[in-house]
Amino acid sequence: MSMIDSLSFDNRFAELGEPFFAPMRARPLPDARMVTFSREAAQLLDLHPDWLGSAEAVNIFAGHEVPEQAQPLSMVYAGHQFGGYSAQLGDGRGILLGQVRNKAGELWDIHTKGSGKTPFSRFGDGRAVLRSCIREYLASEALHHLGIPTTRALCVLESSEPVQRETLENAALLVRLARSHVRFGSFEYFAHTKRPEALKQLADYVIATHFPDVSEAEQPYDALLLRMAELTGSMIAHWQAYGFAHGVMNTDNMSVLGETFDYGPYGFMEAFNPDYICNHSDEWGRYAFNQQPSIGFWNLRALAYAMKDLLSGELTEQLLEVYQTRFFEDYDRLMNKKLGLKVMMPQDRQLMGDLLALLHQHAIDYSIFFRRLADFRQEDDETALYVPKQQQVQFRDWVTAYKARLVQENSIDEDRQAAMKKANPKYILRNYLAQQAIEKAEAGDASEVEKLIEILSKPYDEQPEHEDYAAEPPEWGRKLEISCSS
Ligand code: AMP
Ligand code: MG
Ligand code: MG
Repeated sequence: MSMIDSLSFDNRFAELGEPFFAPMRARPLPDARMVTFSREAAQLLDLHPDWLGSAEAVNIFAGHEVPEQAQPLSMVYAGHQFGGYSAQLGDGRGILLGQVRNKAGELWDIHTKGSGKTPFSRFGDGRAVLRSCIREYLASEALHHLGIPTTRALCVLESSEPVQRETLENAALLVRLARSHVRFGSFEYFAHTKRPEALKQLADYVIATHFPDVSEAEQPYDALLLRMAELTGSMIAHWQAYGFAHGVMNTDNMSVLGETFDYGPYGFMEAFNPDYICNHSDEWGRYAFNQQPSIGFWNLRALAYAMKDLLSGELTEQLLEVYQTRFFEDYDRLMNKKLGLKVMMPQDRQLMGDLLALLHQHAIDYSIFFRRLADFRQEDDETALYVPKQQQVQFRDWVTAYKARLVQENSIDEDRQAAMKKANPKYILRNYLAQQAIEKAEAGDASEVEKLIEILSKPYDEQPEHEDYAAEPPEWGRKLEISCSS
């Protein structure tokens, strides 16, 4: 018996039956080898981390063997991609291997991305490449440790099977762990194919599995939609506060649990720029950084439209209210913490807005600026800021206003400093850091991926031996272009 067979599988999604998925066996990934695995993520499944280093683990995730209790399947969904509706997407290269309930009672989906063609592959080859698997692996763990809701990642495999992207690359596979793989686009699929029974069944599944308290509501489906709106608002508030751009906010990439989902050409903001577009394929900037909050709502409206026959009526206004309220609650709270403020005052939005305008105007590195601001003392002036010397004078008025605000709440330098270091990460996943780790891994050495995982698992700690990882990118690293190719 394999280690994985000792886990408690609870394949609830498979019980829904076939309109929701196609039963699937992976097309085995030839000569697969483990590139890297996360000991921490292994614990989410109560898997012994050492097992992930075994040949057996490779065999299972590469698709040569199916665990006894697994019921592998590919999920069907649709989705709005860059605003246009795609009537049928689905797991074109992914397989839900099974769902496992851990000792803490949590249900985790084990999903393999890159498992070969499925009935939903359309023109794709069903494979994933190493660079995109590593990007998702790094980002899910980095966001998790920053405190941003996200799916997780267990491991990355690599093989010698060639796949064609812009160049020939090797096929690879990511094992993703998530509490759910149901997307906004899952609802859209059943709505637009006019299957109200299936739509209701899906909603009931999400309620029973993830939001049992919602079933007590007078209008459970209204409550479900509004809960999803809250979670989405909270997730996007976190993105905005940490300077994270997702890059492909299509409705098929929106988890019903409000977790950051399906990492592609994402990016962390470096020089602050609200118009930042991380996805080189996003010509019009539909998913630019400052568009994310409104796109979140656009996506929720698409979801509400799909759910309309389940809802008690037209909920648009309520949806906006709930979404916005939750977004601003979290955003304002997180931004206030970034400034080291204990209480929220009406003028704080202005204070933050003025600062962001200055950071934009002077192209200051967003994360480093705030981290250094933690060292600011009330006797300091603008010369203490992380701003080039010649530009500091332009920050003088803002510093005066900030100091007045600190005096107003009797801020104590040491206390504020400690609190700000917990709100302003020292280490973020810069694109160039990911790129370096990927290039090394492509040459057969995953040590840089592992080192990054280690550093990014403590993003708020001072790690003096890794000071260089907290610095601004080198010139080449500012110009990286990341596209949808994956
Ligand atoms: P994404 O842009 O990653 O959200 O993917 C959008 C859709 O394209 C999903 O249905 C994916 O399963 C599918 N897809 C992406 N890459 C491939 C591939 N290489 N082979 C088959 N389907 C793919
Ligand atoms: Mg996707
Ligand atoms: Mg994807």
